[in-house]
Amino acid sequence: MNLIPCTACRYCVDGCPKRISIPDLFACMNTKQIYHDWNADYYYNVVHTANRGKASDCIRCGKCEKACPQHLPIRELLKDVAKEFEK
Ligand code: SF4
Ligand code: SF4
Repeated sequence: MNLIPCTACRYCVDGCPKRISIPDLFACMNTKQIYHDWNADYYYNVVHTANRGKASDCIRCGKCEKACPQHLPIRELLKDVAKEFEK
């Protein structure tokens, strides 16, 4: 299982021009991987992307990656998230 090692510090969130709630989307992804939980889809669609960006809205500007202390490849990971939740 390939969980995303995001610590939910949220340093990446403020600078995102698309207002993507990156750590929450990663948490949905991890939850789905662990529990195969349909609730993760609910949280993705109804809670975390209602007034914010979806993973597919990412314009790949890279601001978030500069802010991430874990050096996560956020742009690539958001692609995976979009594949999982926006199919
Ligand atoms: S690369 Fe995507 S997620 Fe990161 S700040 Fe830019 S638009 Fe937001
Ligand atoms: S900056 Fe990195 S570790 Fe912190 S919440 Fe964003 S993706 Fe997760």
